[in-house]
Amino acid sequence: MADLLAIQDPPPERADAVEGDRVELAADFREFGDAHSIEEILRLAREVLGDPTFPTARAWRKAGGRAVGCFPVYTPQEIVHSFGLLPVALSGGGENLEISRADAALGSFLCSISKSTLEAALTGLLEPFDAYLFPYICDVSRNLEGIFSRVLPSRPSHMLHLPQNFTSPSAIPFLVAEYRSLIAKLERLTDRPFSPEQLGRSIELFNEQRALVARLAALQRDAPGKIGLVEYYLLRRLGGLLPREVHIPLLRRALAEIERRERKNKDAIPILLVGPFCEQPTLDLLQLIEDVGCYVVGDELQMLHHWCPSIVPGPDPLESLATAYLRTPVDIGVRLTPTTKGAAIQARLDAARAQGVVFLTAKFCEPALEDVVLYRRALEHRRVPYLHMEFEEKSTTYEQARLQLETFVESILFD
Ligand code: SF4
Repeated sequence: MADLLAIQDPPPERADAVEGDRVELAADFREFGDAHSIEEILRLAREVLGDPTFPTARAWRKAGGRAVGCFPVYTPQEIVHSFGLLPVALSGGGENLEISRADAALGSFLCSISKSTLEAALTGLLEPFDAYLFPYICDVSRNLEGIFSRVLPSRPSHMLHLPQNFTSPSAIPFLVAEYRSLIAKLERLTDRPFSPEQLGRSIELFNEQRALVARLAALQRDAPGKIGLVEYYLLRRLGGLLPREVHIPLLRRALAEIERRERKNKDAIPILLVGPFCEQPTLDLLQLIEDVGCYVVGDELQMLHHWCPSIVPGPDPLESLATAYLRTPVDIGVRLTPTTKGAAIQARLDAARAQGVVFLTAKFCEPALEDVVLYRRALEHRRVPYLHMEFEEKSTTYEQARLQLETFVESILFD
C-alpha cells in the first residue's frame, strides 16, 4: 500500500496518464478576453476541460499566483480568493484520465471522482496547486482528505466540516469556527493576515458571478431553445476554473450573445436533472439527454455556483457566509433540506414547470442514491414520471442510456 500511495517522480513525465495535448494559456488569460464569439469561448472551454493538467491553474502560476484545489460540492471559495489565491474546482478527471494507481489503492465500489482525484494526486497532475480543500460531504471525501494529507504532506489539505442541524443556535458559530480553522492554514500558506474587508470584496465579486450564472440558468429554464445543454454546462464549468475576474466579463458577453439569438423552443419534454452535484457526467451524456427530446430546465450540475442565491453582506463577512450556507433554500444530496426532500423536489418541479425528472447519479454515490429513494416516493405520490440512470466518468458507450431515455420520453409523450 505504501508504494501505491507514493507520488510518481518526476510528475510531468507521466504523459501516459493524459490522453491528448496539454493546453498552454497565457498568464493573463487573454485567449478568453480575445474570444469574439460564443463558439470561440466554447472551443476554448472544451480544450481546457479536455486537459486534466489544469491549464488555468498552470497559467495562473506563470504570473506568480498560487492556487487551491477545491473538491465539490460546497467550499467557501470567497475565503480562498480573499487571500489572493485562485480557487479551482476539482471536478474529477472526466474521460481523459486513465486510472491505474488509484484503482489499486481504492476499493472498486467507490465513485469515479474519488479515484480520478487520487490518480491526479499520485501522478503529479495536481502539481499546480498549493493546497487542497475538501468539504465533509460523505465518507469518501473525508477519507480522500486523509489520503491527501499522507501523499502530499508538503501541501496543506483541509477538511471543512459542515453543520447538518439547521435549527441549532450553535450552527452558525460552529461554521464560523470551521472557517477560522481554514483561515489559519491559509494565513500560514500565504504569510499574510486574514482581512475581513478583503473577504467582503470577494463576496461581492462571487455574488456578481452568481447573479450571472443565475441569469444563465433562468435562460435555460425559460428559453431552452436558445441555449444547448452542453453550451450551458461549459460556460458554468469555466466559472470554477478561471479567475472569477476573467469569467465574469466572459459570461456577460456570452449571455448577451445568447439572449440575442432568435431560436424558438422545440417540442421537447422539460425535465429536472437531479443527482450530478459532485461527480460530473460526460459532455456526450449531457448531449444525449437533449438529443432524445428533453429540455433540462433545472439541474444540479456545477453546484459551486448556485448553492445559494446570493450572500447578503453583514458586519461580519464570516457570519454572512455561514448564514448563507445554512439558510439557502437549495436542496442537494449532501445537505439536509430545511423542509423535507419530498416537499423540496415538488417545489423544484413547480418552479421549473418540469414534466418529469431524470435522476443521473454517479455510480456508488451514496448521498445521491439515498435521496433518490425519498424523491421517488414524492414523485410517485404526484404521478410525476421519472427515470433513474447511473454514470461513471469513463463512460463512452451510451446505447443503453439512449434506449432508457427514449423510452422515458415516449412514455410521457404517449401518456
Ligand atoms: S460522488 Fe458522491 S460518494 Fe463520491 S465523493 Fe461525491 S458525494 Fe461522495
